Amino acid sequence: MKLANRVKTLTPSSTLAITAKAKELKQQGYDVIALGAGEPDFNTPSFILESAEKAMKEGMTKYTPSGGIVELKKAIVNKFKSDNQLTYTTDQIIVTTGAKHALYTLFQVLLNDGDEVIVPAPYWVSYPEQVKLAGGKPVFIEAKEENEFKLTPKELEEAITEKTKAIIINSPSNPTGMMYSREELKQLGEVCLKHNVLIVSDEIYEKLIYSDDNHVSIAELSDELKAQTVVINGVSKSHSMTGWRIGYAAGPSEIIKAMTSLASHSTSNPTSIAQYAALAAYSMNDEPVEKMKQVFAERLDMLYNLLIDIPGVTCVKPKGAFYLFPNVEEAAKSNGFTTVDDWVRALLEEEKVALVPGSGFGSPNNVRLSYATSTEALKEAAQRIKQFIIRHQ
Ligand code: PLP
Repeated sequence: MKLANRVKTLTPSSTLAITAKAKELKQQGYDVIALGAGEPDFNTPSFILESAEKAMKEGMTKYTPSGGIVELKKAIVNKFKSDNQLTYTTDQIIVTTGAKHALYTLFQVLLNDGDEVIVPAPYWVSYPEQVKLAGGKPVFIEAKEENEFKLTPKELEEAITEKTKAIIINSPSNPTGMMYSREELKQLGEVCLKHNVLIVSDEIYEKLIYSDDNHVSIAELSDELKAQTVVINGVSKSHSMTGWRIGYAAGPSEIIKAMTSLASHSTSNPTSIAQYAALAAYSMNDEPVEKMKQVFAERLDMLYNLLIDIPGVTCVKPKGAFYLFPNVEEAAKSNGFTTVDDWVRALLEEEKVALVPGSGFGSPNNVRLSYATSTEALKEAAQRIKQFIIRHQ
């Protein structure tokens, strides 16, 4: 069977590939520590589970409006108001099958063939693929490690051409955990306004911040920026609801209307029961979220300290999300490997520790470790990485 041209350049998700390999080794009986997970290791809070069960029993099991049930849209409007000081109307909100599909749908309605989207690297693996699937061209700018993986306004301006349609900003970031400050966002925003570049602001890790800095949405900085931004968010990471598949987008009604129309011909609607579960998530207090965050914060400190103690490993301390993105170039070289990818493969084979190579995130000298796993497993993983590096020197 000859497949369509549009899938020819599609790269399978590197996160999923390493997770699959780790699973395979586990099934063979090996004691594998998998640090590839992109999801919290906690169950969805029980209040949400109960609300979903109630919704099912009450017959909320039918099609819903394509853009989501109005109660949930209203809850999202309230969330934006209280968390981000942003005022949206319900026609500026679409509920989607996870934040991933909000992004997918957005690029589909936004891009014509050859339109450029600026993707700061390191980036989340799906951004370039989604842009390409919509006929667009991802334009990568390396956000330098010495600048804490943050893009500067100058770097942004230099990358803009007459074909630039949008830029993706992901703060806090997967995979680096970096966060832009209000001032930094303001400066990037000014460049976007000057060149009429739409901002896609992926704020899925908004609730997982471990520094004193508050999350800032670029859309809240001015009315002009709000009008030129589509905010992407969801309950997957904040409420440990990755499997429920509920995300959303907020932005200019013209864009949201097009996205809703596309959704009506693709997904019809996000799962009805999951929408009621998300409604419950936004109607309860943030206590379970705060508890989860506390555990993540402790693990981050512990793992960060263990990692920077390993020879050949350096790491910018993340401020949010649940990943560390250390640079292991020196360790890989001193261990006799030409690439970090090879080093990661050998580490998995010999020590049974699964990390995700940074190459999939556009940063080939780094690796991503997720600390969404138990403290004991993290300690053991750091120990195994250390002994692997020392043994190969
Ligand atoms: N954006 C980023 C940066 C992510 O890391 C993820 C999930 O890994 C998503 C979006 C997608 O989230 P969802 O599970 O809601 O589709």
